[in-house]
Amino acid sequence: MGTPEVSGMVSKRLQEIPASGTIAISNLVSQMKSEGIDVVSFSMGEPDFTTPENIIDACCDSLHRGFTHYTPSMGIPELREAVAESTRRNNGVPCDASNVLITPCKQAIFMTMLAFIDPGDEVILADPSWVSYEACIRLAGGKPVYVPTRYEDNFVLDPALVEAAITPRTKMIILNTPSNPTGTVIPASTLKQIADIAVAHGIKVFSDEIYEAIVYDGKHTSIASFPGMFENTIIVSGLSKSYAMTGWRLGWAIAPKDDIAAINKLQSHSISCCVSFAQEAAVEAINGPQDSKEAMVAEFRKRRDLALDLIEDIPGLECNVPQGAFYVFPKYEVDMPSAKLAEALLRQGHVAVTPGTAFGPGGEGFFRVSYAASEDQIREGFDRIKRTLAQL
Ligand code: GLU
Repeated sequence: MGTPEVSGMVSKRLQEIPASGTIAISNLVSQMKSEGIDVVSFSMGEPDFTTPENIIDACCDSLHRGFTHYTPSMGIPELREAVAESTRRNNGVPCDASNVLITPCKQAIFMTMLAFIDPGDEVILADPSWVSYEACIRLAGGKPVYVPTRYEDNFVLDPALVEAAITPRTKMIILNTPSNPTGTVIPASTLKQIADIAVAHGIKVFSDEIYEAIVYDGKHTSIASFPGMFENTIIVSGLSKSYAMTGWRLGWAIAPKDDIAAINKLQSHSISCCVSFAQEAAVEAINGPQDSKEAMVAEFRKRRDLALDLIEDIPGLECNVPQGAFYVFPKYEVDMPSAKLAEALLRQGHVAVTPGTAFGPGGEGFFRVSYAASEDQIREGFDRIKRTLAQL
């Protein structure tokens, strides 16, 4: 499952970056399936639901009305307004439409790093963290500085360790709550401590809130909602996970106007704007009925509980209780690196998981299961994990 070799013509910058671990496994699963192998895939963090009908209708309607041209690079005004309004209302972030750039969430992460990180700048992030932060930091010439989190602490960042990791080169702290890969929700009190540290040291916070709607216990808190923090934060979020819209590639960045203008400069030189008719459908997603979203979150909660029950029944596995997103990150006992274990599960057991080390060195000894799959698939997949582990 290694990274394909790149040719000598490829830039040094890129040669030093591995391909995305999540996407690599997903590609391998597609290949195995095309060969007729029945694989249960827990690898990709994507809802198995289809996008709700009202959103699809709005998209078709937009297409039929001929809304098929470029839009302003910042996005259509109605969508920027809808995003600002819902972020103000749901998360208490003091933003308006002028603070919103419509852009795919991953693109927002990539552009933000290019816009704010100079060669040698340091960026603090939790270990483990989602796969592509490190790549984006490195592509911008920055240095990722991992702050370890512990299974015993439910993978919550320790503000004292964050502060201890700060040097004169620290430019940014990346937060992701609820977290991919651990499902951890950072408590509001911890976020407040990190906010105070960031302000005291003049460091920007980059807050990835893509799983904001998928919180099982309590409510999502955005660090930008604390007094004075909006000026210091860049939020990214989007529709992929909350509305089962991964294929639409639509999200946003929210930040002070000057920061948004900087990111938009990159957008204007890269993708120009997001897909026009998808933007009109997104207005319907945000302003239309929310019952499908709520039903999907309720279903994810049931599946989380099922996954945890099944893990409890597997010798050599244990898992913390995630409070959000749709991942479990079990700890395993078998003496094998997580990349090898994931390979064995896939090749021998025909069940795809993501190795913990795809998310940073602290992921060794763990693997990630995305339980955004049907109940039957979850039962079958964990059964295969159990049987394969017993053979190793
Ligand atoms: N964010 C999802 C995941 O972690 C989708 C794949 C990706 O963007 O890495 O599986």
